[in-house]
Amino acid sequence: MSNAKSLEELEQKQDFIRRHIGPSPAQVSDMLSALEVSSVQELIDQTVPASIRLEQPLTVGQSRTEVETLSYLKSVASKNKVFKSYIGQGYHPTNVPHVILRNVLENPGWYTAYTPYQPEIAQGRLESLLNFQTMTLDLTGLDLASASLLDESTAAAEAMGLAKRVSKAKKANAFFIADDVHTQTIDVVTTRAEQFGFEIIVGKAEDAVNHDIFGALFQYPTTSGEVVDITDLIAGVQSKKAIACVAADIMSLLLLKAPGKLGADVVLGSAQRFGVPMGYGGPHAAFFATRDAYKRSLPGRIIGVSKDRLGNDALRMAMQTREQHIRRDKANSNICTAQVLLANMAAFYAVYHGPQGLKTIAQRIHRFADILAAGLKAKGIALKHSTWFDTLTIADDNKNDVTARAIAKGVNFATNHEGEYSISVSETTTRADIAELFDIILGEGHGLSVDAIAADVEANGSESIPASLVRDDEVLTHPNFNSYHSETDMLRYIKRLESKDLSLNHSMISLGSCTMKLNATAEMIPITWPEFANLHPFCPLDQAEGYQIMIGELHDWLVNITGYDAVSLQPNSGAQGEYAGLIAIRKYHESRGDAHRNVCLIPSSAHGTNPASAQMASMKIVVVNCDKNGNVDMADLKAKAEEVSENLSCIMITYPSTHGVYEETIREICDIIHEHGGQVYMDGANMNAQVGVTSPGFIGSDVSHLNLHKTFCIPHGGGGPGVGPIGVKSHLAPFMPNHSVINVPGTNIGNGAVSAAPYGSAAILPISWAYITMMGSEGLKQATEMAIVNANYLTHELSKHFPILYRGRNNRVAHECIVDLRPLKELSGITEMDVAKRLQDYGFHSPTMSFPVAGTLMIEPTESESKGEIDRFIEAMVSIKGEIEKVISGEWSIENNPLVFAPHTQGDVLGNEWDRAYDRFYAAFPVPSVAKNKFWPTVTRIDDVYGDRNLVCSCPAVETYRD
Ligand SMILES: *Cc1c(COP(=O)(O)O)cnc(C)c1O
Repeated sequence: MSNAKSLEELEQKQDFIRRHIGPSPAQVSDMLSALEVSSVQELIDQTVPASIRLEQPLTVGQSRTEVETLSYLKSVASKNKVFKSYIGQGYHPTNVPHVILRNVLENPGWYTAYTPYQPEIAQGRLESLLNFQTMTLDLTGLDLASASLLDESTAAAEAMGLAKRVSKAKKANAFFIADDVHTQTIDVVTTRAEQFGFEIIVGKAEDAVNHDIFGALFQYPTTSGEVVDITDLIAGVQSKKAIACVAADIMSLLLLKAPGKLGADVVLGSAQRFGVPMGYGGPHAAFFATRDAYKRSLPGRIIGVSKDRLGNDALRMAMQTREQHIRRDKANSNICTAQVLLANMAAFYAVYHGPQGLKTIAQRIHRFADILAAGLKAKGIALKHSTWFDTLTIADDNKNDVTARAIAKGVNFATNHEGEYSISVSETTTRADIAELFDIILGEGHGLSVDAIAADVEANGSESIPASLVRDDEVLTHPNFNSYHSETDMLRYIKRLESKDLSLNHSMISLGSCTMKLNATAEMIPITWPEFANLHPFCPLDQAEGYQIMIGELHDWLVNITGYDAVSLQPNSGAQGEYAGLIAIRKYHESRGDAHRNVCLIPSSAHGTNPASAQMASMKIVVVNCDKNGNVDMADLKAKAEEVSENLSCIMITYPSTHGVYEETIREICDIIHEHGGQVYMDGANMNAQVGVTSPGFIGSDVSHLNLHKTFCIPHGGGGPGVGPIGVKSHLAPFMPNHSVINVPGTNIGNGAVSAAPYGSAAILPISWAYITMMGSEGLKQATEMAIVNANYLTHELSKHFPILYRGRNNRVAHECIVDLRPLKELSGITEMDVAKRLQDYGFHSPTMSFPVAGTLMIEPTESESKGEIDRFIEAMVSIKGEIEKVISGEWSIENNPLVFAPHTQGDVLGNEWDRAYDRFYAAFPVPSVAKNKFWPTVTRIDDVYGDRNLVCSCPAVETYRD
């Protein structure tokens, strides 16, 4: 009996842990022997300084099986009440086309890809993002669009930033927001303005022109639904040399004149209702478009068309030198991870429906609003506005009765306008729903017939969109939006693009600092459950009980794991977490009368988002040097802290360091900063080397962001979504983000928001929740240990062939290592770029290139890769080293070798001409193992300079396809 029981227990415990952790026990012992240690424990003892080792194990519970976890989570999810939402305010029910649901959102080929920094193996999602940009340009009527931003409200804040950069009203320091902009957007933009030191003026849209401003923001249609011709408002703003920004509803733009055509300088909004579930607030992609003249000021990524080595069209991220990685505190914004998966979903929605299909959906929505309005008017109900697209606002003395009747029927209206309620109809609305709305508003027995009203509306036409605003130009004329309307065609288009991209379902993606670990299927399954997917972020709290339970548990576990006292889940990327954390620090200093403390110390090795975020919090950045071992130069730190002592706000430091080592002096660093009255911000991107072994709170830090899309298994989605929660010590808790629509408990009421939704990208939190549940305290610690084992094994093997740049105590590394390619480059002329591209021929995504040190590769295998896969990668690297040696020896010239011609496409290798110094077969199959799992890049090396000189950021005209 007891034997059987312990077997069961063993099986239970290992159910998920052994699936998540790549190496088998036998492989672990092989790796330990290679490292000449007798146990994992011995390696950890050699690697992690004793002074930071946790004394107590985590208390997040015991590992649970996949089946148990999903069954429990289902019971939690079922506590959410999925009401019909007419709340609007930027979030609408939508029908996710099933072909997109299954083949994109639920498909690891799409969701496990990384940001397309290696464009030759990312042409699929780059094409989809180019579709997203083309769609944005067509619908907004502007010249230049970015690939995606985090949400509508942060996009509006970015618009304000752009307005300040480009406006010729140089003396103005105020930004105007019309009072009929969505509440959450006013909130997020105000938070941002406070940090930048801008004044915010909220007033009637017509008043914008009466203020000294550098920019203004209008909502189109307004939050209460009115469709106003904003041509004159825009012109008024521009007459003051200020920048006119418009937040627009994407669906309405099928019927309404494009804001760009009304003169707007910037148009932005959420692409959520293009087939992305509401998900209790996110994740969704925001679109952003502006004039070509402002291209150097655009926030976020731009996908551009360039040429490959053979002259074929090839896509890539354009003008990367504008990015925060490179420009640091001079960057336009700190945007890094940015909702690529959701932008792709929205783009596919447009591809699938096409211009006519989208127009039909928009017309149907609008007609339902007309029918609803006609019925209500016939019964003497007064509508606030005489124009609308999909939203009616009603001033009704019976507001409370009506909303109570609505709730009783499982229906939500927006009620946060005083004495008013609004109803936004959506793609999912039916005639039966309209009949139900009449019953709710008018009481039963009203005698209205939806069919009869519909016939009337049909016969009489509608004037609810002003004639001057009726859209009359063609949109989405590109063939990509006019070719894939049957499910077969669509399925194949999605598959065709997917096949061009290398994702985790093909091979290891060993990007240092990015932690590309397993995104387990069981973790992904709950996110599309209707109980999680179909909640509006502003629904009454008692309908979101399931979410509150799940979020509460995740919160408490993250508190335990980080050693902090409180966590905010609102930031929707790591960089947004940095920003939220710096705001908390700033407010804390202000609360103590230390508003002058504004200097942020940042070690030179920091990730580019750190200085970019510090700049957004208006901090003065002082760079601290690193010594030759890659550690913070303690003498320099002490001197600089001393020098700025009076004004020291904080340090931003990554741990383990960006160089992949556990710095021994970390506690001392915290002490020095605290002695000078500063706060410690620990960038938690490298939390995968901490969980269960140490913690930022335990080490002595005050605040950190975590990247749930790195350590806690949310997939990268090809460049987003992400969740960047911050953990804080109790003294900072009152300064965490709140939300003006839904109050977030545990922080000050008056605090502003950093995201549009109170819990940010709530819909993907079940992924991290499930990971922690299935791993339990013990599994999480094992994951960290195995990440360290894998990294040290890989380092040990590679060090036989390449110099390893930095190491910590006992010559060990933490969870990643930096391979120095500079000596080989010196001898051969082969660059780190050549190596990165040649790895593609071997079926691998390059590790992180030239960060944090130029001329190097930073490699992070994570715990999820087996020894077999790591050995394959090592084999590739060693083989590439051999190729470089042939260049050094002169066997191959620097102009004619497989490295400089990498990557090789099928067309290249099978072409009629071949004048290379190496043979065709070797080009594509350099080691035998490649043949078993060959991945073909679809374009040869892309010309970056050509693409930036000839910036094209919408789908190229058809003629170029024919060439
Ligand atoms: C990934 C990363 C970030 C930024 O996270 P995003 O979610 O991409 O904004 C910040 N710091 C470090 C060290 C990182 O690796």
